[in-house]
Amino acid sequence: MLHVVMQFVADQRKTPTLRNSILKLSEKMQRLHTETAFEVLARAEVLRGENKPVINLGIGQPDFKTPPHVVEAAVQALRDGHHGYTPAPGILPLREAVAADILKYRRVSVHPDEILVVPGGKVVLFFAILMFGESGAEILYPIPSFPIYQSMIEFSGARPVPIPLLEKNNFAFSADEVLNLVTEKTTLIIINSPANPTGGTVPKSEINKLVAGLQEFPHVAILSDEIYSRICYDQEHTTLLAYPEIRDRLILLDGWSKTYAMTGWRLGYSVWPRELVEPAQRLAINCHSCVNTPAQFGAIAALEGPQDFVDEMNQAFLMRRDYLVKALNSIQSVSCTLPNGAFYAFPNVSQLGSTAEQIQNELLNDYYVATVAGTSFGMYGEGYLRFSYAASLDDLNVAVERLQEYCKKTALRTNN
Ligand code: PLP
Repeated sequence: MLHVVMQFVADQRKTPTLRNSILKLSEKMQRLHTETAFEVLARAEVLRGENKPVINLGIGQPDFKTPPHVVEAAVQALRDGHHGYTPAPGILPLREAVAADILKYRRVSVHPDEILVVPGGKVVLFFAILMFGESGAEILYPIPSFPIYQSMIEFSGARPVPIPLLEKNNFAFSADEVLNLVTEKTTLIIINSPANPTGGTVPKSEINKLVAGLQEFPHVAILSDEIYSRICYDQEHTTLLAYPEIRDRLILLDGWSKTYAMTGWRLGYSVWPRELVEPAQRLAINCHSCVNTPAQFGAIAALEGPQDFVDEMNQAFLMRRDYLVKALNSIQSVSCTLPNGAFYAFPNVSQLGSTAEQIQNELLNDYYVATVAGTSFGMYGEGYLRFSYAASLDDLNVAVERLQEYCKKTALRTNN
């Protein structure tokens, strides 16, 4: 089935534009982009279909199954007849469970009425950017970053203003730099920590400084994408929700996809400032009415049930991170900073002398290792590859061996 879906994605990419058609696609559709990770996945599936020994480190999802008690809760909900629509923001017991979870892990009290459950964290980005993006507006967002940020900002008509995340700063932003980019046209700032694709986290001191500086700019809303909040290794997660000074303009994004290995369930949640709750719900009603009802029951079980699964998965990620980063650093001409969160390593491969995209393609087509070129995450991604270590240690080991092989061949090629 995955193969069919991925082939569809690949075919869509090949589909000619509507240039020769009498159908008139809106101009803004030209500004909406996609995620290269899905293209890599499609190509990897094609190669797998040809019986090639593909190792897939391209896709950003846990390689674990959703815990059985969560699956059971959703199945039971179906058996119990929960087949209808629910209120747009989600059933109350679920929003209460989200509020309790936020209190437990973020030590912040949130009212269930401020919570909107959505079909995937992505929807929060969509809604927030639609709310604040329009022609003449500027939206600040990190680069390299989740490609949907830039795509949606451009789609909205706003001007995307990149916040560079550089390796020399461990892929964290400097608060001063962010504040320097704010103008009277800035409507929204997007923050993502722990981050995709770098695994970087922003130190608490920089977040303190940013929040203090934002007091000068009360017209700016903040979207904190904390989808990897529970996957933090060496230092505790800092949530923007814990700053009462910006609570009246902070939108929080989190969800079940990464924490509970539930990417395919399409479940996310958001916390909105009081005055944005109604517009957010209006968007939800126009868009999807409500989230899949049995999935909402599964989501309660995930939050209220045992958390050992999360701890075990994170232990596995930590072991793999340490293994992968050490192995990457042992390869001549590759270097990798230690990511503090998520399940991505973002090694510097600039010394290999090819573009990130060329390396991505050669590694996939000739060595059957799927990674994603840093440039898929924006301009500052040139010279880097994203490795998702949501894969077994054995797979990581083989992938590193093949990368070593590739680097040796590349060195020979450049020396000749
Ligand atoms: N934000 C970031 C930074 C992500 O990496 C992802 C998914 O990869 C999302 C949001 C979207 O998550 P979801 O699958 O819940 O829509």
